[in-house]
Amino acid sequence: MVQLSTGDMLRAAVKAQTPVGIAAKAVMDAGALVSDEIVSDLIDERLGQMKPEQGTIFDGYPRTEAQARILDKLLAQNGRVLNHVIELEVDEDALVERITGRFSCAKCNANYHDVFSRPAVEGVCDVCGSTEFKRRPDDNAETVRTRMAEYRAKTEPILPIYEARGMLKRIDGMADIAHVSAAIEGILG
Ligand SMILES: [Zn+2]
Repeated sequence: MVQLSTGDMLRAAVKAQTPVGIAAKAVMDAGALVSDEIVSDLIDERLGQMKPEQGTIFDGYPRTEAQARILDKLLAQNGRVLNHVIELEVDEDALVERITGRFSCAKCNANYHDVFSRPAVEGVCDVCGSTEFKRRPDDNAETVRTRMAEYRAKTEPILPIYEARGMLKRIDGMADIAHVSAAIEGILG
């Protein structure tokens, strides 16, 4: 299956200078946010490039009810159907702890965590021995809480739509990675 993240698709379309990419770049260069319409054109363009037998995972889309309606239309236009909607249920406080603790090696990008995965020797990368580390500026508690509030206000209301269609599957996102992976594979398999 191909994972389609709207951010990745946008960057790829801009780089490849597709018609949608050129339009999106003009909007972004002007400092404006890319509209639902541009994102939908982007998905339409990408789905049109894929082989019919190739499956797709939408990552971070749709985020609003308007986008959910657009997605229905795009899938129909491209002769595709939605099979599953997977909700990863998380505890917000635990999520904040997970995200704000993330850091990585500035040299080799190995991932670490303040609580769950510290380097074996304090301040030294296990993989390459570098002593330089970095953190993503948006991995802070306030940004995470703002994102969660936005999710609850705009994205969560989509779930009943998919639940009514019988395609919503809920997974405990607080379980360890192996359990979450197995649960997702169980749904897709
Ligand atoms: Zn390293």
